[in-house]
Amino acid sequence: MKLEIELIPDSTMMINLRQQLSSYRWRQLSRHIQERDQYTCQICRRVKGEQIDKLHCHEVWAFDEEYGIQYLIGLQSLCFKCHMIKHIGFAEMNGWIEKYQLIEHFCWVNQVAAADYAIHFHEAVQLWIARNRIDWLVDLGDYTAYEMPKRGVE
Ligand SMILES: [Zn+2]
Repeated sequence: MKLEIELIPDSTMMINLRQQLSSYRWRQLSRHIQERDQYTCQICRRVKGEQIDKLHCHEVWAFDEEYGIQYLIGLQSLCFKCHMIKHIGFAEMNGWIEKYQLIEHFCWVNQVAAADYAIHFHEAVQLWIARNRIDWLVDLGDYTAYEMPKRGVE
């Protein structure tokens, strides 16, 4: 599936690049990532200024269960709905969007039925429960020293 739920373990919810950087640096980085991604949601391909108003910068993680390390492996521009599906518990908790709207988006992007969403959600929660048993070390890699690439270099 193109769009999957990725629940962050409780213990590392607040340990991420966004928290490490000043809001100024985060906005600068986020703008750069949007430019790199050609102002397009990297999952559903909707475009900022056309089908959507804005893009979020999403931190992409890899989990090494054996060593208990959570690695930041990339950043990507996502639309609000794709991003909120990634962190579905968080969106609901904050009342930012109705759950049925997220399920509709999930089904549209993945071309699946609501029953498939229910199965996927269940699996994501099971994975989250298993990952919550691990004492994670978060590795932000080189991203904290992120330098803005010069225009035209990439
Ligand atoms: Zn999207």
